[in-house]
Amino acid sequence: MTANIDMIKKVYSTFQKKVDHTRKVVGRPLTYAEKILYAHLWEKPNRELVRGKDFADFAPDRVAMQDATAQMAMLQFMHAGRKESAVPATAHADHLIVAQNGSDEDLKRAIEENKEVYDFLASICKKYGVGFWKPGAGIIHQVILENYAFPGGMMIGSDSHTPNAGGLGMIAIGVGGADVVDVMAGMPWELKWPKLIGVKLTGKLSGWTSPKDVILKLTGILTVKGGTGAIVEYFGEGTKSISCTGKATICNMGAEIGATCSIFPYDERMSAYLEKTDRIDVAKLANKNANVLKADDDVYKNPEKYYDQIIEINLDELEPHLNGPFTPDRAWPVSKMKEAVVENNFPDKVSVALIGSCTNSSYEDIDRSASIARQALSKGLKAKSEFKITPGSEQVRATIERDGQLKVLTDLGGQVLANACGPCIGMWKRMDIKTGERNTIVNSFNRNFAKRNDNNPETLSFVASPEITTALAIAGSLSFNPETDYLTNDNGEQVKLDPPYGDELPKKNFEKDRKGFLAPTKNGFKTKIAIPEKSDRLQLLEPFPAWDGKDFVDLPLLLKVKGKCTTDHISPAGSWLKYRGHLDNISKNMFLGAINAFTGNAGEAKNQFTEFYQPVHEVAREYKAQGIGWIVVGDENYGEGSSREHAAMEPRFLGGKAIIAKSFARIHETNLKKQGMLPLTFADPNDYDKIQEDDTFSLVGLNEFAPEKQLKLIIKHKDGQTEEIMLNHSFNTGQIEWFKAGGALNLIASKQKAKVQKKKPVAKKKVVKKAVAKKITKKVKPVAKKSAAKKKVVKAVKKVKAKPVKKSSKKTVKKAAKKK
Ligand code: SF4
Repeated sequence: MTANIDMIKKVYSTFQKKVDHTRKVVGRPLTYAEKILYAHLWEKPNRELVRGKDFADFAPDRVAMQDATAQMAMLQFMHAGRKESAVPATAHADHLIVAQNGSDEDLKRAIEENKEVYDFLASICKKYGVGFWKPGAGIIHQVILENYAFPGGMMIGSDSHTPNAGGLGMIAIGVGGADVVDVMAGMPWELKWPKLIGVKLTGKLSGWTSPKDVILKLTGILTVKGGTGAIVEYFGEGTKSISCTGKATICNMGAEIGATCSIFPYDERMSAYLEKTDRIDVAKLANKNANVLKADDDVYKNPEKYYDQIIEINLDELEPHLNGPFTPDRAWPVSKMKEAVVENNFPDKVSVALIGSCTNSSYEDIDRSASIARQALSKGLKAKSEFKITPGSEQVRATIERDGQLKVLTDLGGQVLANACGPCIGMWKRMDIKTGERNTIVNSFNRNFAKRNDNNPETLSFVASPEITTALAIAGSLSFNPETDYLTNDNGEQVKLDPPYGDELPKKNFEKDRKGFLAPTKNGFKTKIAIPEKSDRLQLLEPFPAWDGKDFVDLPLLLKVKGKCTTDHISPAGSWLKYRGHLDNISKNMFLGAINAFTGNAGEAKNQFTEFYQPVHEVAREYKAQGIGWIVVGDENYGEGSSREHAAMEPRFLGGKAIIAKSFARIHETNLKKQGMLPLTFADPNDYDKIQEDDTFSLVGLNEFAPEKQLKLIIKHKDGQTEEIMLNHSFNTGQIEWFKAGGALNLIASKQKAKVQKKKPVAKKKVVKKAVAKKITKKVKPVAKKSAAKKKVVKAVKKVKAKPVKKSSKKTVKKAAKKK
């Protein structure tokens, strides 16, 4: 039985009508992506939305979270004032399992080590009617594809590879946890209307070439930034030669070109996948609506009229690729790898080859890899490299165990890891090399930035299809080209591997195992949320205070960042993944990777009171303890990279008021606004150079804060000189309300509260009103008591000067002095 079938029926019942209406409104044929976007607008469209310019409110059909992001998302959702999620939602325990000794042992250890997080997620999901996939049940995107994705639907997920569901014709977008909270709270979700890149596939996949090579090739063409702000829509005859799961692989890795998401039109391959995954009801509905689950005919005839950019890839000519190291857009056709290895001095020996992950662990992927393993064994070959297999879900694992592929792969020398992210996200304890040792690995995952897989900056990671990865595991060499090269077997004979083959879907049904799933219940609201009292991994959130209605005066500079400042520079991952549910503890990583423009060092800031350098979060904490806000100055594209909301929550939690940068990455800019911070840009980017290390700032005119109206910043330098500069912002009216309320969540909560109060009898209303009024007075009082921030700075300075430096500061200061 398909989950949430009523919701899916509802989507299909109005889809055609909505598309017809949109066609009339925009006055032209529509692409497939446009149909889904317009059909999911919060309000009926009355005009064409301008790509790359207009912001639009959407009503997605469902949401998904992985465990690392679900913790903070659910902690925030608790404050939304709802009894259950407004849309179907699931959380997936996949990111916290460390790969080390193989599936059983690793899973057992993870369950013990992460018990409090899993118990928390299980309890809070039950409370709010969210499905919970327990550790070992599978990786978020594979589980979504197998159970929830449907053609014509729209979902958001707090993981950047959510677009995987585009393989089943769904608009699926990776976002921050705060966005997920909006949708779960029944609020509209906002997105800038995306541009459209059309990718026309001609020809047919064959031989060693696989769906992975389509996206490896496209990543090489578009580079890691080429898809920013755009949806990639595939079309053309070639799409039909790609299985549904192959399409999902392509959409999954669209995140590597920065695309909002990627999508394929509905076809028979999707229908077959739906049927095989026990969703014949959805397949029937989709078949009935097939004429509308694709672009209109004229779009395919004259694509140049409808897409902002068109790229054509001929599958007949496409070669298998290897992309890397350190970036997924460094694309090498396998035939060029020999030269690349020599010219770039890449270590030729493949130390570890890994197949699977959410990106490439379908039945077809594994069957094709197993076909290579089978013939290698019959030709007297075994894997020369370490070889690891990560099934994407228990459903796939149990099925490939039943059908024999798992045995063949382990006979070749493979080790089966847990159905979890593991080496794809740095949760991999390697025993074969030491950190700092230069080595090559090949994998069928999606990202290969430095340290991504094993935290070793000297690991050169190459991304390839599972088939090529398996062949390279057998050869043990990066420069091996299975299309032309021979291998020597145990008997000293020269043998060649034949191209892989494999079944797209199992002949029998998939093995279903629902033990790992806690289904949402209707009556879970009384469930007690499990948070151990002294947990260092989980912490309940306190709502951030509302804006006090005053200008920000004499805020010290916490940090001026130089160069690239991604969300990973602001809030690193790796070992910090552990603290994603504890805002106070994870805030100790704030700006650890950001380069201080004055010292050139990462993660340090000058304490304006002591004049010593300390880790940035310590300085922020000292300012916060004194009741003083602060600002950070950033360079270009501040906050690019993963949509990690911790990078916005930490500055807010530690007392930040504004981030002023030359420019922002859009998702992070929105995340900052959602948390009640002010992301502002220099009207004249050269003003960045005016910022000095000991400056204080006054941000004036906040009472007239309005869309498209500049704000004034008064910079006070150490010598007493002042300068005035103008700042731009991208707040719309609704977002300004987030700022005033102290964050979007506070606004959602107050709206929810108002809804509940509306339903209550009048007499009770008055009491509530009084209580609210009392609260407001209370809130205003402490602010009124406080003198101007400027006075407070002076007072604080005096305090610090009069007192010896705090013990903790002294220690850090000594450390910092030594370092210098
Ligand atoms: S397997 Fe990798 S890409 Fe997929 S969800 Fe996990 S970390 Fe993300």
